[in-house]
Amino acid sequence: MSAAVWLLPHMDAETLREYLNFYRDLGFTSLYQRAVKTEQTQSAMPIPPERVPVLPPVLPSLVPEDDSLAKIREDIGECTRCRLHSGRHSIVFGSGDEHARLVFVGEGPGADEDAQGLPFVGRAGQLLTQMIEGTAKREGIPLERKDVYICNVVKCRPPENRNPEPDEMEICGQFLFRQLLAIRPKAICALGATAAKALLGRKEGVTRLRGNWYKWRDIPLMVTYHPSYLMRQYNQDAKREAWEDLKKALHFVYD
Ligand code: URA
Repeated sequence: MSAAVWLLPHMDAETLREYLNFYRDLGFTSLYQRAVKTEQTQSAMPIPPERVPVLPPVLPSLVPEDDSLAKIREDIGECTRCRLHSGRHSIVFGSGDEHARLVFVGEGPGADEDAQGLPFVGRAGQLLTQMIEGTAKREGIPLERKDVYICNVVKCRPPENRNPEPDEMEICGQFLFRQLLAIRPKAICALGATAAKALLGRKEGVTRLRGNWYKWRDIPLMVTYHPSYLMRQYNQDAKREAWEDLKKALHFVYD
């Protein structure tokens, strides 16, 4: 894939490097240059330095036009953009309805997800399915897991299930953002601290953030506990709270 970039006269080496890294992370592998008529190129007379207009950098849109999940997956390709690629068996892109009104975002694939190439299919995934379908049923909302969309902040399994590193989250986060913008759900549910940090940039613990509405861009976002946390015996109170959070999110989206 190739892209035209607008390199500004005053762009320094560091800005240029960041700019090109940005394109590379979006999957662009080649660039081409197009002559652009600016005030400077049109003028026959040299402009004195103090009159050279300092234009704001025109940064590219994060999202290509007509973006879709298929295109995003294609752009990810056989990704080697971060160190997580070396230990993965599969890239776990996401699953569910491309037009879902509710998207769940977890942290990253575990062993079962890595083996099957699908998000939340292990024990935590079974609990998440139960939470979604059980709560919906109790609340009289006709909803199955296949009707929502489920994905993660990072698409490759971190070794020993460690938390993703900030640079891994940043690189893979570009694709998560594109997924969310392509789906445009009515609401997002961030599962656990990693998803909350990636989407809200907030470092507070989930205990502080959960149960309230925030926004990712203009999309309402609810933070709740990660299902893996809820599987621990001593977290029964958290389990009740997570069910309350989910109830709130389901009613907001489907009422
Ligand atoms: N935990 C996650 O955060 N995501 C998965 O897909 C599975 C477990």
